[in-house]
Amino acid sequence: MSGLPKYHALKVDALKCIGCTHCMKSCPAEAIRVVNGLAVIDHERCVDCGQCHRACPTRAFYVEQDDLAKIKAFKYRVILFPSIMIGQFPEKYNETQIYNGLKKVGFTHVFEVEQPMQLLIDSVKEYCANPESSGPAISTYCPAIVRLIQGRYPSLVENLILRKAPHDLAAHFAIERLMQEGAQRDEIGLFYATPCIAKIASVKSPVGERESVVDGIVNMNKLYNEVMKVISDKDNEDNSEQRTNLSNEGILWSLTRGESCHFGARSIAIDGIHNVVRFLERLENGQVQGIDFLELRACDQSCAGGILLTGNRFMTVERLERRAKRYPSAKDISETTIKVNTLELKQKLIINSISPKPIFIFGNDRVKAIEKMNRAQRVVCFLPGIDCGACGAPNCHALAEDMVNNKAKMSDCIFLQQMWEDEGRINAKKAFLNVKKKWGTDRFKADCNKRGRRNEGF
Ligand code: SF4
Ligand code: SF4
Repeated sequence: MSGLPKYHALKVDALKCIGCTHCMKSCPAEAIRVVNGLAVIDHERCVDCGQCHRACPTRAFYVEQDDLAKIKAFKYRVILFPSIMIGQFPEKYNETQIYNGLKKVGFTHVFEVEQPMQLLIDSVKEYCANPESSGPAISTYCPAIVRLIQGRYPSLVENLILRKAPHDLAAHFAIERLMQEGAQRDEIGLFYATPCIAKIASVKSPVGERESVVDGIVNMNKLYNEVMKVISDKDNEDNSEQRTNLSNEGILWSLTRGESCHFGARSIAIDGIHNVVRFLERLENGQVQGIDFLELRACDQSCAGGILLTGNRFMTVERLERRAKRYPSAKDISETTIKVNTLELKQKLIINSISPKPIFIFGNDRVKAIEKMNRAQRVVCFLPGIDCGACGAPNCHALAEDMVNNKAKMSDCIFLQQMWEDEGRINAKKAFLNVKKKWGTDRFKADCNKRGRRNEGF
């Protein structure tokens, strides 16, 4: 269990949001409403999948991160970054130059997180050999998926594999290696370069442990820009020693099928949060049989599609696949090369438990919740079922739920208002006032230069 409150790094810039509802309609958790013409995130429902960030035509979403200057507080400043970061840089820079670029930014030690990967592979295999539940073992690699399952599919929580992600492996590995070299624990600062907001949440409020060993988060697009200021394609200072534990499997781990290909006789890899939601519905309804292992990732093309990456996701995948071919298999990297106590390290990969965190849309009181649910069902009968979003909720059902929770009114539905006008129950002036209250006073003026008019940003 995390000892920290649920953290969300994603925020909406009210000056940029035009209330277009693209984000609201793309959210798989129905976590967004448009209120007074602006998108508002319900953080209880949000699973940090990043779909809304992708869908916004005006780039109104921004991601909070730690100040890079924070690294100066440490003598040993370690950057932990996933292999996909290498795939972001222009082809003219090789991995040696990218590593040296990261050092020029201010880090003293550079660790790709997917190493020494065989330890994690063995640990997950051990877990899968003695599962704690029936049905497929579900990877906990993608934190957005873990949160989705905790909130919307609590009966599947027991299928989650109780093992940490590669960045935790690398963090403990880096600590061990630096302490062997004489560093004190409090002199070591570990900073993780994240490709997505879900990983930020997994560091700031981890699931299955009290707190993360990582000290800070850097958004990968920010770090990329910093490195691009100092990197040189003439730099040939050898740093290959820092990649002696990197393997073919490690480099491919964050890509689709990078994980599932190692486990079970029958495994499935699914990327894209909406695909995952559809599959989990089937799984929960008992329509999936005989599958041993599920790799589920929120982003299309897995981490290569993370919202904090700068490169094209398909080109990133191609580049990583080419790079991986130059590296040995994880099982061929000997313990002598790893140079740490592998038994202790494996022990640190175990998560004690993950609890279900069902989202109680109608509150925790069961009797009242059933009564509210029935009321919402009755309200839906009066709504047109067009799911247009003009009420500020993603669909008619969500509007009905908001109404019984006193967060919306019948008059928010523009079609009902039209009908009431037609029946003489409300005058046109009052009806339009209601619409302006929801969408803002200037919303309906003709303006050929309005922001978002051509869905810029898609
Ligand atoms: S501009 Fe549209 S997509 Fe972007 S945050 Fe506002 S409502 Fe959502
Ligand atoms: S991050 Fe995902 S779950 Fe959260 S508000 Fe955006 S789309 Fe919805």
